Amino acid sequence: MTDPGGRPVVEAVDVTRSYRMADVEVTALAGVSLRIDAGEYLAVLGPSGSGKSTLMHLLGLLDRPTSGTLRIDGREVAGRSDAELAELRNATIGFVFQSFQLLSRTSAVDNVALPLVYRGVRGRERRERAVAALQAVGLGHRLGHRPTQLSGGEQQRIAVARALVGGPRVLLADEPTGNLDSRTGAEVMALVEQLNAERGVAVVLVTHDETVAARARRRIVMRDGRVVEDSAAGDGTVGDSAVGDSAVGDSAVGDSAVGDSAVGDSAVGDSAVGDSAVGDSAS
Ligand code: ADP
Repeated sequence: MTDPGGRPVVEAVDVTRSYRMADVEVTALAGVSLRIDAGEYLAVLGPSGSGKSTLMHLLGLLDRPTSGTLRIDGREVAGRSDAELAELRNATIGFVFQSFQLLSRTSAVDNVALPLVYRGVRGRERRERAVAALQAVGLGHRLGHRPTQLSGGEQQRIAVARALVGGPRVLLADEPTGNLDSRTGAEVMALVEQLNAERGVAVVLVTHDETVAARARRRIVMRDGRVVEDSAAGDGTVGDSAVGDSAVGDSAVGDSAVGDSAVGDSAVGDSAVGDSAVGDSAS
């Protein structure tokens, strides 16, 4: 369910990311161009070290390109302060990780409400929205439970509720089924897909699991820091346009609407999730 008329949620044009290690420069991304529209459902595949985590960091506004142009929800990343990126992240991105990343001593409802704290939403409304999000993932009867009192599948559904509580434009899921048995994993993916269909949230899913990847409607394959394949599920060719120059496209550099948010930057972006969390799915 793309939204060709709307503004893309991701536009990357020849994005690179390299790291300087002593005297050596390591190129993690060697020039990625990619356009993702609202409501897309995209799997990212590729061997360990191919740049998937680096790409997810960039799309999640946890890192910045070394060169190239990256726009998230129409806003150019370059030139923004960390605080501005955190605000954009909070307003636009939801994260779901392999390891759930919930606060273990905090109730389900408070875990889900946390991103809203950082947006200044008042207590009562926070709770109402968190309850609604938990109901949407089928956990309306577990509001007061702490993560340790819940199964892995339930914990991941709480993480999905937290990612979606503020109405993000894109959900970044990094091996979301990696700690779940296959049946529970399939249930979590079905839930993500339902929310993708109902709310038009774009889903970008990194996974090594082919059966999980096969559920997506589009897949990109990375190798050596590049997108080497970009195809609609089932057949050939989102291909050239998406890999190639399409992302340069129009300048849909948006107007205002900083939507609602998902993950409070300090809640998940900084402390609980931190840098490495996006990365650890990788290999
Ligand atoms: P993947 O997620 O596909 O396994 P990564 O994005 O983690 O791949 O890594 C891509 C390449 O960049 C790898 O060669 C990796 O060693 C390198 N790399 C990633 N992060 C860093 C870093 N912080 N410092 C130096 N090199 C890095």
